[in-house]
Amino acid sequence: MTAKLIKGTEIREEILEEIAAEVKEIKEKNGVVPGLVTILVGESPASISYVTLKIKTANRLGFKEIQENQPETISEEDLLALINKYNDDDSIHGILVQLPLPKHIDDKKILNAIDPDKDVDGFHPINVGRLMIGGDEVKFPPCTPAGIQEMIVRAGVETSGAEVVVVGRSNIVGKPIANMMVQKGPGANSTVTVVHTRTRDLASHCKRADILIVAAGVPGLVKPEWIKPGACVIDVGVNRIGEKISEKTGKKIAILSGDVDFDAAKEIAGSITPVPGGVGPMTITMLMKNTLKSLKFRQGIA
Ligand code: NAP
Repeated sequence: MTAKLIKGTEIREEILEEIAAEVKEIKEKNGVVPGLVTILVGESPASISYVTLKIKTANRLGFKEIQENQPETISEEDLLALINKYNDDDSIHGILVQLPLPKHIDDKKILNAIDPDKDVDGFHPINVGRLMIGGDEVKFPPCTPAGIQEMIVRAGVETSGAEVVVVGRSNIVGKPIANMMVQKGPGANSTVTVVHTRTRDLASHCKRADILIVAAGVPGLVKPEWIKPGACVIDVGVNRIGEKISEKTGKKIAILSGDVDFDAAKEIAGSITPVPGGVGPMTITMLMKNTLKSLKFRQGIA
C-alpha cells in the first residue's frame, strides 16, 4: 500500500486563501484589518528567520503588521512595558513574542503579561484553561496542534470514535493535541492515549492507533511495524540529521527527518505527513487564523 500524502504546503495555501478572502470582506464591510505585532529580542538567526516568515505571511494576507526588534540587552521591565503598550492598542489583535528570550528575562512572566484576548499563540494559562474546557470556550488553540487537527480533518480522516495515540506530552504539542482530540465536537470525539518516555511498551500502544500523532523529537523512533495498516500518521518531529548544499541557492542547508521511518511507513499507513512539508507549514498558517479570529471576536462577528 502507498499512503496518501497529507501535504502541509497545499493545505497552507488553501487556508491562507480563505483567510485573505475574509480579511478583504471584513475590510470592505467594517473598515478594519487584523493587526499583529511580532516582538523579537536579540539576533538569533533561527528566531530572525521564523519572525521574517511570520511577517511575510501577515503582509501577504493584508494584515497590519508591526515589527518590534529589541536588543538582547533589553530589561524585563522594558519588555513588559512594550507588551502593555500593545495590550492597550486597539489596532493590534495579536501579540507574538518570539522565543527563546535571553536568560535574564523570565519567559513565563512575559508570556503571562500578554492580554489573553491577544494571545494568538495560545500559551497563556487562561487560553490553556479555555482549551481544556473545550467547545465555545476555546479562543486561540495553540498553533501547531491546531494545524495538526486541521490536516486530519481536511484529509477526510474520521476522528469520531477513532483510537488516537499521541507520542509526546509537551505543553506545545503533545498535551494540547491530546486534549483537542478528546473533546466533544467535530474533528474530535476520539479515544486518546498519550505515551512518553516512561510508557511501558510504546509499540503496543502505537499499533492500536487509527490516528498516530508523533511529537518526540527522535528521528526514526516509530518503526513501520508499529503502524496499524491504513492508519493516519502525523509526524510532527523536525530533526536535523545532517547538511547538504541546496540546488536552488548553492548554500548549506539542514537535512531534516521526522520521528517516523517515512519510506517504510508510507507502505503501511493509509495517509501520512512528510517531513519537511507536512506539519511544519501549518504552524504560521494557524497563527494567522488566530489573529483573524481575534479581530472577529473584537468586532463581535466570530
Ligand atoms: P519536547 O518538549 O522535547 O517533548 C518531547 C516529548 O516526547 C516528551 O514528552 C518526551 O517524553 C517524549 N519522548 C521523547 N523521546 C521519547 C521516546 N524515546 N519514547 C517516548 N516518548 C519520547 O518536544 P516538542 O516541543 O513537543 O517537539 C517534538 C518534536 O516536534 C520536535 O522534533 C520539534 O522540533 C517538533 N515540532 C515541530 C513543530 C512544527 O513543525 N511546526 C512545532 C513544534 C515542535 P518525556 O515527557 O517523558 O520526556
